[in-house]
Amino acid sequence: MKRREFFKRAGVGALAAGGVLATSQSHAAKRFNWKMVTTWPPNFPIFQDGVKRFAREVRKMSGGRLTIQTFAGGELVPPMQAFDAVSQGSVEMGHSAAYYWSGKVPAAQFFTAVPFGMNTQGMNAWLYHGGGLDLWHEIYRPYGLVAFPMGSSGVQMGGWFRKKINSVNDLKGLKMRIPGLGSKVMAKAGVNPVLMAGGEIYTALERGTIDATEWVGPFHDLRLGLYRAAKYYYYPGWHEPGPMLELMINEKAWKSLPKDLQLIVKTAAMAVNLNMLSEFEARNLEALQTLKNKYKVNVIAFPDEVIKQLHKFTQEVLTEEAAKDAKFKKVYDAYEAFRQSNSAWGEISEGAYARALKL
Ligand code: CA
Repeated sequence: MKRREFFKRAGVGALAAGGVLATSQSHAAKRFNWKMVTTWPPNFPIFQDGVKRFAREVRKMSGGRLTIQTFAGGELVPPMQAFDAVSQGSVEMGHSAAYYWSGKVPAAQFFTAVPFGMNTQGMNAWLYHGGGLDLWHEIYRPYGLVAFPMGSSGVQMGGWFRKKINSVNDLKGLKMRIPGLGSKVMAKAGVNPVLMAGGEIYTALERGTIDATEWVGPFHDLRLGLYRAAKYYYYPGWHEPGPMLELMINEKAWKSLPKDLQLIVKTAAMAVNLNMLSEFEARNLEALQTLKNKYKVNVIAFPDEVIKQLHKFTQEVLTEEAAKDAKFKKVYDAYEAFRQSNSAWGEISEGAYARALKL
């Protein structure tokens, strides 16, 4: 009887121990197979390539516990449906630029680019250490999304124009491909802003359907062949001084991840954020040389008077948009407070250094 009792107890004990072991193993071994859509064309350098790098690094860091299958725009859902696909949970992740969703979420534009706003350094500071990311999460929560910064081009170029721009009057009546808040500013200058995907820009400019376009910077603009369709390449990209790309994650899917996998995702996104900026910086300077030396492109600055006017129009646009939407105003106020102190510091750090180099 005692012997039977002993075996029974031992058996129960062994079972219990086995149960605990099985549970902890299944926790560690639980595998997540996710899908991620983007708004970029397939094989789009730096953007889509950066997304593939992110997926690869997450898989390696997690020992294969989180695998992410990536799809370029149109491969699974059309590019401009990425937000809805992640929000509704038909896929777990997306990579995009938050200002594409301005029709639904006007405040989202602050998490990509604001004309005459912060550069990449300022954006990173605001998002990671200035409360910006918390606001972003607050704005995306009603859509069941969380987001993290994941890639920036640095200051972009002002765009390609088929004729020379000597004054704001020269902008009047031009058809220009330009997205986001920049398009509203250009509209105030008399431009007819047009939205079109990257793949359509060259033909439209070459045929004269549009008179001007902004795209990214020397590396991507060279690749698109825009120098064959327009003679004048203007700087600076006042409308996109440090545009930030986004990693969107379905909130339910995010909460289902164990803490260590969440940390891996956040860390990989941060690494890709830095890597994309570094790659843009390195490739843009090579491409600028090619555009200038090989293709004899006129690389010219917008006249000061044009920049001053566009700056004035920007303030009008921001005030008008803030009056229309309470969430836009809330994010604008926070963004603007940070931007002003960032600008004061920038004046005696980066700005003073740039001036010192010219003496
Ligand atoms: Ca752009």
